[in-house]
Amino acid sequence: QKAEWAKLMNEKTVSKDGHHVELGANIGTPNDLKGVLDNGGEAIGLYRTEFLYMGRDQLPSEDEQFESYKAVLEGMNGKPVVVRTLDIGGDKKLPYLNLPEEMNPFLGFRAIRLCLEEQDMFRTQLRALLRASVYGNLKIMFPMISTLNEFRQAKQILLEEKDKLVSNGVNVSDNIELGIMVEIPSTAVIADQFAKEVDFFSIGTNDLIQYTMAADRMNERVSYLYQPYNPAILRLVKMVIDASHKEGKWTGMCGEMAGDELAIPILLGLGLDEFSMSASSILKARAQIKNLSKAEMEKLAEQVLQLQTTEEVIEAVKKATL
Ligand code: PEP
Ligand code: MG
Repeated sequence: QKAEWAKLMNEKTVSKDGHHVELGANIGTPNDLKGVLDNGGEAIGLYRTEFLYMGRDQLPSEDEQFESYKAVLEGMNGKPVVVRTLDIGGDKKLPYLNLPEEMNPFLGFRAIRLCLEEQDMFRTQLRALLRASVYGNLKIMFPMISTLNEFRQAKQILLEEKDKLVSNGVNVSDNIELGIMVEIPSTAVIADQFAKEVDFFSIGTNDLIQYTMAADRMNERVSYLYQPYNPAILRLVKMVIDASHKEGKWTGMCGEMAGDELAIPILLGLGLDEFSMSASSILKARAQIKNLSKAEMEKLAEQVLQLQTTEEVIEAVKKATL
């Protein structure tokens, strides 16, 4: 089987009936690049930049960040690289920021909320990204967006930094797509409004499931409620994909669900454009998608959206694909 997958290394990901989707990888540092290339990744669908900030005692400098972003962009040789701006908080802490303890860190002062307030830190990261943008195909993505205003503010700050760089004679790409993580239910619900303003969505199911089901993703006692195949989650995913397509935009998914063998048939049927997963899952997913018909999976998706429980959904997927 492994040998079969290896043959798919340099192939595009195309369904049995000729529909192309993009398979990308989630990475945390430039060191992960080799794994992506060795596994036939068509893109970086999520570069989690928080690792640059963690395991040290002060913020990384603009130049230090620039070098990392440039290395990833150059390493991917023109293939898309979606870089997510700092998503700290929740389970990921930065002791040197001296933030107060919170009752509910996952619902607290984190990610874009923190960046919009600690603007020096945010602007430094954005400058590093803008300077690196000329070395490849950069797309910038904001995490934990819950309102349109947050997106508009973050975009405004990005444009301000871009203008400053350009007027100082620094080269910045003019083709940087700007997107958001859809990982908070409020954003999924008004995806139609967001779709008019963003260039793309990436669905972060790790958090979207926890917030929709009100089940802490780290808490074993409630893990039975952490249900990727719950029709409530699938309907939200459909809303987001449909909203993006209506505006001519694209939707990816970078949560664990994107690499899940049972979820892939449904996601293909719902029209997901890009799947981003751990590099080691890419070839297996490509082999699976080659054997699926998009038209048939559309019917499966339609069917599972009307089911009532996780168990029924799993049953239906197995029946349609195994
Ligand atoms: C997610 O929430 O699905 C996601 C990809 O981000 P993280 O796991 O880093 O929160
Ligand atoms: Mg998340």
